Amino acid sequence: MFQLNDRVAIVTGSGSKKGIGRTIALTLAKQGAAVVVADLNADGIQDTVNAIQEAGGKALGVELNVTSKESVDAMVEKVLEEYGRIDILVNNAGISQKVTVQDMTLEDMTRVFNVNMFGLFLCTQAVLETMKKQKFGRIVSLSSVSAKRGGGVFGGAHYSASKAAVLGFSKNLAREVALNGITVNCVAPGLVNTDIWKSLPEEVANNVIAGIPAGRPGETEEIAAAIAFLASEESSYITGEEIDINGGSHM
Ligand code: NAD
Repeated sequence: MFQLNDRVAIVTGSGSKKGIGRTIALTLAKQGAAVVVADLNADGIQDTVNAIQEAGGKALGVELNVTSKESVDAMVEKVLEEYGRIDILVNNAGISQKVTVQDMTLEDMTRVFNVNMFGLFLCTQAVLETMKKQKFGRIVSLSSVSAKRGGGVFGGAHYSASKAAVLGFSKNLAREVALNGITVNCVAPGLVNTDIWKSLPEEVANNVIAGIPAGRPGETEEIAAAIAFLASEESSYITGEEIDINGGSHM
């Protein structure tokens, strides 16, 4: 896979023990990057940091609330103190909620947008100055298949809307920073084999699988592999794009 030696990568939401972010962090570290494991969840951060270090990689754990500008700025300051650069930002932290539009409150809508879109904005804005100075940067954000075809068994319309917002935001930013050596891309996973998937009743899971040509949910490694590519030197002429990773459930 693509080499990320000497690169410094921040992965938000990488403290979820069975989540996609942890696998992204492990994968980028395996490819040589020093990885900043940033999350709300202190236990989870330590767990991911330990896993990276046990595999011989470099990691720094930082408690982060993506919805707080103070917290985001403090993280960036800490990373620059420790490593002096930031090459890769993976905006992975995200939340969802299963609720109909009719039952949704404005607080529900605000909570989901606060993390999935406004938090992503704060993290992205906070690394731009450094990436511009370096004349190199890779920003990869997690959208979702539900941005394109509506949510399924897990998410509400606020989740789908926030993940569609991530796509538009990324395309605009890609144009703004293309001359600075910075690329901005998204990955849009379909259903991934995380805890939430395992919690589905068998009948519901079978119905979902019937709509996936590949006949199974994705694995976290399959999402992380695409992100490692978009984070690498080799993807330098790809910007403003999204990669669908969904086993053919949306083409
Ligand atoms: P997860 O819930 O396992 O992990 C999300 C992590 O984000 C958690 O560790 C959580 O603590 C962290 N987080 C939440 N709010 C935060 C905040 N304010 N500040 C910092 N960290 C915060 O989720 P996952 O299933 O691994 O999903 C990861 C990303 O992939 C999300 O953006 C999600 O929307 C997207 N995605 C997931 C799937 C799937 O099937 N699991 C499909 C498509 C897209």
